[in-house]
Amino acid sequence: MIYEYILSIVRNFNPVRSKGSKKNIFYKTDDEIEAIRYSCELVGKTHAVVAERIRPGIRTSLLDKLAEEFIKDHKAVPSFKGYNGFPHTLCMSINSEVVHGMPSNYELKSGDIVSIDCGVFANGFHGDSAYTYCVGEIDEATKKLLEVTKESLYKGIEQAVVGKRLGDICFAIQQHAERKHGYGVVRELVGHGVGRQLHEGPEVPNYGKRGKGIKLLNGLVLAIEPMINLGKKEVQCLEDGWTVVTKDDSPSAHFEHTVAVRQKQAEILSTFEYLEKAIKNNIELTEIS
Ligand code: MG
Ligand code: MG
Repeated sequence: MIYEYILSIVRNFNPVRSKGSKKNIFYKTDDEIEAIRYSCELVGKTHAVVAERIRPGIRTSLLDKLAEEFIKDHKAVPSFKGYNGFPHTLCMSINSEVVHGMPSNYELKSGDIVSIDCGVFANGFHGDSAYTYCVGEIDEATKKLLEVTKESLYKGIEQAVVGKRLGDICFAIQQHAERKHGYGVVRELVGHGVGRQLHEGPEVPNYGKRGKGIKLLNGLVLAIEPMINLGKKEVQCLEDGWTVVTKDDSPSAHFEHTVAVRQKQAEILSTFEYLEKAIKNNIELTEIS
């Protein structure tokens, strides 16, 4: 029952797994990929604007406002605001919140982790990227969760090359996060294609079988986004209809890049470069490797 309920709610935003539909898959030209890269650059810079300001005591709604202003100042549109009725620019998910958390009057405190997901629409195309930040001092187990989740993102990206199959990406993420480190890999929410629409096909689960799924062809653009729990994999949706939380209340991490499938090596279109520089310069944040 509750599972069905979660599906009906979260279907509204990050795609929910629906058994490998081949619908809605678009292969991009080089020009279209450049347009996506432009949107992704703005996403990366928006993250940095936020990362400069995160500190204990700041309200998440203020960070959301800064992000919205920055995107609009660059003549672009926040992809999430108004998407199926989502009222904010950023999804901000704190501690046991997995994804789709709402900016609010909550004041961040030392020891919190906050997953920030940002999408930008410009020149007809979306970019999409998420990062989990450590506010103040955080405990070692949580820090390790973030590092392994980030590693699992890159393990997935390594597989996003021509000739591999979609399942190779999914398998690589699950292998690292779940089998190697024993974390819970969220099943209900998945990555996705990105382009003219924020969510296109194919769905990109964070678990799966090697050698299964569609063959990866040049120009497929994917948002790869492991959502990994320190505890068990089960999640539920809060009464606000958006916020997905872990059932066991354990912390959850989320890292996301938009990437283009290419020969030999995937091209990462989004960037953590600006935000990681901002983290380095912000004494209120703990860096992760
Ligand atoms: Mg995202
Ligand atoms: Mg996404």
